[in-house]
Amino acid sequence: MFTIWKLKKTFRGRHLRVRAHGGGVADRQSKVPGFSQEALSRVTAVCAGAGGLGSHIGEALVRKGVGHLVLCDEDTVEPSNLNRQKFYKRDLWKNKAIRLARNLSAESFLGTVVTGIGLNFMEAVESGLVGRCDCIISGIDDELAREAIVEYTLLAGIPLITTAVSGDGDSGYVHVQKPGEACWRCAFPRERRLRDDLANYRAACPGTPAIKDILMLVSGAAVYALDALFMDRPIAWNYREFRLAGFMPDVIRRVERLPSCCLCGSAIKKETDTRILDAGAKPDGKEMNREVAGRTDCATGIWALQTVLIPESMRMKITGWGGSKWASVVQHENAKLSKGGAR
Ligand SMILES: [Zn+2]
Repeated sequence: MFTIWKLKKTFRGRHLRVRAHGGGVADRQSKVPGFSQEALSRVTAVCAGAGGLGSHIGEALVRKGVGHLVLCDEDTVEPSNLNRQKFYKRDLWKNKAIRLARNLSAESFLGTVVTGIGLNFMEAVESGLVGRCDCIISGIDDELAREAIVEYTLLAGIPLITTAVSGDGDSGYVHVQKPGEACWRCAFPRERRLRDDLANYRAACPGTPAIKDILMLVSGAAVYALDALFMDRPIAWNYREFRLAGFMPDVIRRVERLPSCCLCGSAIKKETDTRILDAGAKPDGKEMNREVAGRTDCATGIWALQTVLIPESMRMKITGWGGSKWASVVQHENAKLSKGGAR
């Protein structure tokens, strides 16, 4: 087990100070209608995932001069990442978040502070390493983890930009979730039933197709969406889908909030259920994984917690992150919410 100090590293970018006839680093973008350098420099953005999407989104945010960028990822750099992610030979076999933070800090000319945390997002939250943030960008490829982040942002009352690319590398989407508006699940509704979850669940599968072009398209829209959240750049959509081949049209939509949404709908009770921690929060993870893996492609989720004792609205949080620690985070957040202060 690593100690905490090895899991988190911060790099402080400097402001470039040189004489330039053509204007400084931010000169050209500050002329874009609605763009505010000052607003961006006050933003702390957390990027869950420091892989293909995190590399492109992170680079853009750092070059544009976001105030603080925090990257969370537990994975290590492998040769098969180098076709599309911002790593070099020297980064091989090292933690993605910390190496990406280091690499991006070299591209910071507007004083961005870049922090890498070598844990997945929820583990980083549980460990108290994330701290205050204004916006979360989700760039991970695990459906359960994605949903857990959605629930976290709903509880914390902060905006979330969810990005994803398809398994065949042809399409991808960006969803923008503002507090009080449609959540990511409103755009991808489904009934939460144990059987369906199990049948539909696909964890991140190593070795699936992955290529740079679709990442660039999706990342560009995500970075624009972040601007629109914090300054006056106009935006008509909260969901955008790109298809490289173009046989199907791209999608630009305004997703409305779904009253029946299983995450943010009016039917969901925000109460804390203390039974969670007593309801068998110590599953035999290994045995359960084996059983799940037999029925799905390469699932690694822990499903043992899905007993009738646990309310459905709480199950995904627990199964996605494997245990009582996440449940306690949810309880903590719920307690904060009930006191009337989200953050
Ligand atoms: Zn919703």
